[in-house]
Amino acid sequence: MKTFKAGIVGAGIAGASCAGALAAAGWEVDVFDKSRGAGGRLSTKRTHQGWATLGSPFISAKRDPFRSQLREWVRQGWLDPVRGDVWQGRATISWAQAQLQNHYRPTIEPSQLVRHVMGTARLHTQSRVVALQPRTLIMEDGRVLGDYDCVICSVPIPQAIPMLDALPLLRDRLGEVHYRPVWSFLMRWEGGPAADVIKFDDHLLDMAVRQTADGPGLWAVHTTHEFAETYLEASEMEASNRAASALMGLLGLPWPVEIEASHLWRYARPETSVGGFWLGDRENRVALIGDGIAGDGVERAWESGLRLAQAILQSKEELAL
Ligand SMILES: Cc1cc2nc3c(=O)[nH]c(=O)nc-3n(C[C@H](O)[C@H](O)[C@H](O)COP(=O)(O)OP(=O)(O)OC[C@H]3O[C@@H](n4cnc5c(N)ncnc54)[C@H](O)[C@@H]3O)c2cc1C
Repeated sequence: MKTFKAGIVGAGIAGASCAGALAAAGWEVDVFDKSRGAGGRLSTKRTHQGWATLGSPFISAKRDPFRSQLREWVRQGWLDPVRGDVWQGRATISWAQAQLQNHYRPTIEPSQLVRHVMGTARLHTQSRVVALQPRTLIMEDGRVLGDYDCVICSVPIPQAIPMLDALPLLRDRLGEVHYRPVWSFLMRWEGGPAADVIKFDDHLLDMAVRQTADGPGLWAVHTTHEFAETYLEASEMEASNRAASALMGLLGLPWPVEIEASHLWRYARPETSVGGFWLGDRENRVALIGDGIAGDGVERAWESGLRLAQAILQSKEELAL
């Protein structure tokens, strides 16, 4: 019996859910990511004491099938419901009041969680893909990987477009998907509110989330989109200093905060999306998934990968021709 092969670009949650579902059905799956590990916008920063989350701080589900999937991940010991206190404005409020009651946080490194989702698919890290062609991936190092039954692109749309020169009909169907940026920082400070999450009502800072895996003193601080658009081309030092001084003012902190890491998410969250769960070119066996297709957030990205895998598996007989 023929073993089907898929090549996937991008080891975020969308690429991982697609890879995992295909691999579970017996496909040979290669997942290529330009970074050093899996996770994409759910990836982790290693610190001296453990790990910290600079990307999406929470995973939440509005409906099935992701709701059931999250319950399963809780059973596996990979997630815990978010608990604790939220400091908003000038007061501490409950999770329910903060509308965070259906939110979960990974108890294992989010990049490991995403790796688990991939199942037996092969992950190739530090492997940048520069172009997609029918059934073929062109790698930055010049390799041409051309024996796939289908190739799947699971990266933010502005990063997908330059890879699709050989597939103009697919590229033209993408239209304009606009993403908004976020600067995220890991910071330590003394004092401030005794809470686990701080929701700022401010035009510069959006949220700070206490990092527990590293010990209680470390926070991930996320700016507003407006801040990141203003400091899009700024150096890490300039953006960090501006965010730190905003934080000290908002929380009334007496001492300078310590900045451990910073990251600009140029494509943090799509403002619009193409629509549907995936976009495919059947004839050339190429498809696109991810939040730029299916809509903002981990849930939509995960479901876009799963739905594409289900559609591919349904049409597998046809692929064998
Ligand atoms: C700061 C922040 C906060 C967020 N908060 C939330 C939240 O609270 N709730 C929520 O639901 N969502 C949140 N999100 C959004 C959520 O993280 C994303 O919607 C989701 O993770 C997108 O997954 P994805 O697989 O589509 O894309 P990504 O995770 O971006 O995966 C794409 C992958 O493709 C790789 N890649 C790109 N180009 C190439 C190439 N040429 N070759 C090889 N690999 C390549 C990248 O390295 C990346 O790993 C947040 C995002 C950010 C940045």
